[in-house]
Amino acid sequence: MDRREFTKTLGAGALALTLHRAVLPFGSEAPSLAITIDDFSFFGASQTVAEQRNRALLTALRAHDNLQAAAFICGRNIDSEMGKSLVRQWGNAGHLICNHTYSHWFYPNRSFTEFAQDTLRVEALIKDMPRFTKRFRFPALKEGDTLEKRDKMRTFLKEHGYRMGYVTVDASDWYIDQRLRTRLAANPKADLPAYKQYYLDHLWDRATFYHGLALKVLGRSPKHTLLIHHNVLNELFLGDVLDMFASKGWKLIDAENAFTDQVFSTAPNILPAGESIIWALAKETGKFDDLLRYPGEDGDYEKPKMDKLGL
Ligand SMILES: [Zn+2]
Repeated sequence: MDRREFTKTLGAGALALTLHRAVLPFGSEAPSLAITIDDFSFFGASQTVAEQRNRALLTALRAHDNLQAAAFICGRNIDSEMGKSLVRQWGNAGHLICNHTYSHWFYPNRSFTEFAQDTLRVEALIKDMPRFTKRFRFPALKEGDTLEKRDKMRTFLKEHGYRMGYVTVDASDWYIDQRLRTRLAANPKADLPAYKQYYLDHLWDRATFYHGLALKVLGRSPKHTLLIHHNVLNELFLGDVLDMFASKGWKLIDAENAFTDQVFSTAPNILPAGESIIWALAKETGKFDDLLRYPGEDGDYEKPKMDKLGL
């Protein structure tokens, strides 16, 4: 091919690209989403019940093309032979094992020094597990309420080789789970499909909110990370959650892939620091305050809706 022909081909390619872009409305590219699972709280469950829950979650992920999640481990919840063996199953199955502190303290209530020590304390439990990865997530996504505390932790994490395990799509599955467990304790024949529907609607509502916000703030679709928990709600419905996102055209991706997105290397300058990384970047611009509630997510927002539905 001579130079002229080559230029012509390039021209045709560029035209095709332009047409392709013209057909696709802005932001219509299929969003992608990874699953991240926090806490690993077994709520005092017996070994049989805890193993069953662990298996159900792992099976749901495996059934979706062996989807690889990231597990953010709270040390105090798994500080036993049983706890460690349940987490190890995640590493063995290829899921990332990440740090969510030992005690799950609310950073604003603690000094930098004690919080930093608590961060390293969990390593003794998980550092030898397969797929242990130095990625960190703050409990309740609270990254410090003063400039000094925020920046000291940022420096501390960097010095210890950690990268941030930010959430893009925050939600309140923990609150729906809490209500479901209370109801099941009172009535083992509770209306599970009603809880499932509420949960799916809630996640879809939050995912579309944070995705829409991301398009406004970043001007593009990031690789999303959804925050959910190792709990009864997801033991029952994680498969349905994955089916729902897939059926709506979202692409389910491995957490390790999602965390390569540049959005996970940002450090928004806001106080109090934290929330979803999309929320925080939106807050930092000062342009979206009408769209941002604080905290970004909370059980208080779900309570009246669940009360009304009798859930
Ligand atoms: Zn947590």
